[in-house]
Amino acid sequence: MAEQYSKEDEIAILDMINKWVENEVRPIAQEYDQADKYPHELVAQMKELGLFGATIGQQYGGLGLPATIYAKIVLKVASAWMAPSGIFNSHLIQASAIERAGTAAQKEHFLPRMASGELRGGIALTEPNAGTDLQAIRATAVRDGDHYILNGTKTWITNSLNGNSLAVLVKTDSSIQPAHKGTSMFIVETKDGQGNFKPGIKVSKLKKMGYRAIDTCEVVFEDCRVPAANLIGEVEGQGFVQALGGLELGRINVAARGAGIALGAMELAVRYAQEREAFGKAIANHQAIQLKLGEMAVQVEAARLLIEQAAAKYDAGERCDMEAGMAKFAGSEAGVFCANEAMRIFGGYSYSVEYDIERYYRDAMLMCIGEGTNEMQRIIIAKQLIERYKI
Ligand SMILES: Cc1cc2nc3c(=O)[nH]c(=O)nc-3n(C[C@H](O)[C@H](O)[C@H](O)COP(=O)(O)OP(=O)(O)OC[C@H]3O[C@@H](n4cnc5c(N)ncnc54)[C@H](O)[C@@H]3O)c2cc1C
Repeated sequence: MAEQYSKEDEIAILDMINKWVENEVRPIAQEYDQADKYPHELVAQMKELGLFGATIGQQYGGLGLPATIYAKIVLKVASAWMAPSGIFNSHLIQASAIERAGTAAQKEHFLPRMASGELRGGIALTEPNAGTDLQAIRATAVRDGDHYILNGTKTWITNSLNGNSLAVLVKTDSSIQPAHKGTSMFIVETKDGQGNFKPGIKVSKLKKMGYRAIDTCEVVFEDCRVPAANLIGEVEGQGFVQALGGLELGRINVAARGAGIALGAMELAVRYAQEREAFGKAIANHQAIQLKLGEMAVQVEAARLLIEQAAAKYDAGERCDMEAGMAKFAGSEAGVFCANEAMRIFGGYSYSVEYDIERYYRDAMLMCIGEGTNEMQRIIIAKQLIERYKI
């Protein structure tokens, strides 16, 4: 639950994050991305900074940050390198599902370990045949005494190789209609004390165009035994609602990651445009380049304002699915737009891996796909709009 933070607290937190990003994150981004190498040292620093408990309530050892401050942290990290923001973002989506829907015993058991980073999580919803249409998932959990037996394949699961805990959406009843009423969510601690995957769990890393260095994997459950006590809320049939319940915050997060990419790409472009000369002057003095920079700046600020608006409503406990959808759409599209325009400003050098801009370009599109595709965002916004302007 969000705690009270003063303006001074916010400034101090963001100052600490800015220093960390500039000193530790930005300098290694391009090298680690190119080598697809996991940034273990950043994870250790994230633990020190409290990022694994950023939005977890203080009674469980977290910082209990409001969405307004959290979104600014995510935006700053993503402005230097989007990928590491996924290490704590997906983890916090899992934590938020437990905090919202878990039993008191589950909160006590999981949240302090998640806040410290001892347990590092992710969410396993998507399957090879079902992404947007989550009701079509096929993974199952069948009760067997005081355990459930999980079977099925999840794909594109972030943090599943280097983390040790997943919130897994499965069917506990495949016959019920509507199908979402047969879904349930389990917390699966995937590794034993030695850091090896437990029996019945097989994880294979996927090669990606962007969002590299971070582990995104296929996860196969084969007769995997999970304690019944790990069924979130200890009630079957709530999985879909629990998964979607965190989407407003999830969308604000993705919006901030997209806006971060947009800001980072714009900052690189505005610097390069002043350094690079053509026809006897810096290209920043050519109007065609100024038109690009001007539009990039508007997109960055528009995304920032929509994120702030959605986060403020979220913190006030108000319904904000439309605002979060708008922020997600605007932030992620700003990322794609600004990365694209920056590539043009860098000309041929945009294709060189010596420059960071090509990474922003490869990372940007993912933000239009994750946490509900932008096609779906527009539909959600339109449905809310029709409801609000009903004649
Ligand atoms: C790098 C990466 C990391 C990821 N991390 C995770 C993770 O940690 N956990 C997890 O569970 N998933 C994760 N995902 C999966 C991601 O959430 C899905 O890819 C996303 O939900 C889209 O699902 P899909 O790929 O199956 O596309 P589909 O659902 O097959 O959609 C394909 C296209 O059809 C459109 N479409 C579908 N239905 C409709 C409709 N009703 N109306 C209009 N258009 C529609 C979509 O908008 C899209 O354009 C990750 C994906 C990637 C690429």
